[in-house]
Amino acid sequence: MNAPFKPRQAAPETVLTEAERSRILAKSALFNPPPYVLPDGRRDLVGLSREELAAEILEIGEAPFRVKQLWHWIYHQGVTDFAAMSSIARPLQQKLSERFVIGRPVAATIQTSTDETRKFLFRFRDGQEAETVYIPDPQQDRGAVCISSQVGCTLSCRFCHTGTQTLVRNLGAAEIVGQFMAARDAYSEWPSPRGETPRLLSTIVLMGMGEPLYNYENVARAMRIVMDNEGIALSRRRITLSTSGVVPMMDRAGEELGVNLAVSLHAVTDDLRDELVPLNRKYPIAELLAACRRYPGATNARRITFEYVMLKGVNDSEAEARELVRLIAGIPAKVNLIPFNPWPGSAFEPSSGNALHRFAKIVMEAGFASPIRTPRGQDILAACGQLKTESQRTQRKSPGE
Ligand code: SAH
Ligand code: SF4
Repeated sequence: MNAPFKPRQAAPETVLTEAERSRILAKSALFNPPPYVLPDGRRDLVGLSREELAAEILEIGEAPFRVKQLWHWIYHQGVTDFAAMSSIARPLQQKLSERFVIGRPVAATIQTSTDETRKFLFRFRDGQEAETVYIPDPQQDRGAVCISSQVGCTLSCRFCHTGTQTLVRNLGAAEIVGQFMAARDAYSEWPSPRGETPRLLSTIVLMGMGEPLYNYENVARAMRIVMDNEGIALSRRRITLSTSGVVPMMDRAGEELGVNLAVSLHAVTDDLRDELVPLNRKYPIAELLAACRRYPGATNARRITFEYVMLKGVNDSEAEARELVRLIAGIPAKVNLIPFNPWPGSAFEPSSGNALHRFAKIVMEAGFASPIRTPRGQDILAACGQLKTESQRTQRKSPGE
């Protein structure tokens, strides 16, 4: 399988053309989440931008300063009940609760691993489900919330459990930010009225189910909410978006969100990457790395993470480690080596400890940090690439049909 590296010609500037952008957006529109209005007509306020929230408030004839108040209660204090908003008088609390809700996905199941990693199966309003994982840092009182962006995935990376589930639908902004908020609920991690800052759930990795850059609009809306200074207020440095390499959308995410970027590389030749990450046939390695080189804000302080799943006898040779460092030379980067996490029916084996260490040493000696990631939550199928739900796609018609 390991053919010598044949670089393909990268387009000098692979920017997103209008046609390409429309194609990606039209395709994701087919998988839109359901509207955020309950059967009783009340609207979910979670997931609205500030401007949209302002429009709702104006519409019911209330003063603009209520927007700031509501935002604070919803995203800073984490309340879900208008009656708990003590700075708002009863009659207005009542009026708000007649028209609006502050929604949360429901935790259908919660499993805790022997290493304290916790996996939530969240059910959304239409019954679809996705998984979210909380990964505590054993050294500190901190941790990362691994969030899903889609139910299923359109891309079928060969080593990934999610990839065996076809795309059911995109998650909406409310569902994406809702996973984080519901996880905070579960750990009672909202600031107290005295204003302590939550620490446990203070990092987001968009590394759950789905390809975030194929659901960019919803992911971007959710991340803007999460980064808003008067709410959850996570800095963009505390958010990492992982992509399998949707090159044109990488530019956009960099310019508009500026979050940390992780790129699922996994192979150093196009022949092998075409097999493992089929998206490579569309955006080959040279184009992907060109997009990494121009990713805004990539500096030594804010390095791009290359993820490399170590598959025994497939991509884990010393020659491949050397080729990897040649390919990424000059990019401020680190390489996360992820031992393959098996799942029922998977066709690969994890690399041996020796292979992992030899590979890591070569990468490290070339000047790149190359941590070997300890699998977390394997016993509850919560580790990288193990997430999958039973959700199936029901036939939905596209708007033109
Ligand atoms: N779709 C995005 C983000 C979700 S996957 C992406 O592909 O980047 C998060 C990471 O887990 C990716 O690097 C992915 O390649 C990796 N991964 C998938 N399956 C895996 C497995 N079985 N073992 C280890 N890592 C895996
Ligand atoms: Fe989708 Fe990422 Fe899994 Fe590939 S690795 S199938 S892009 S979730």
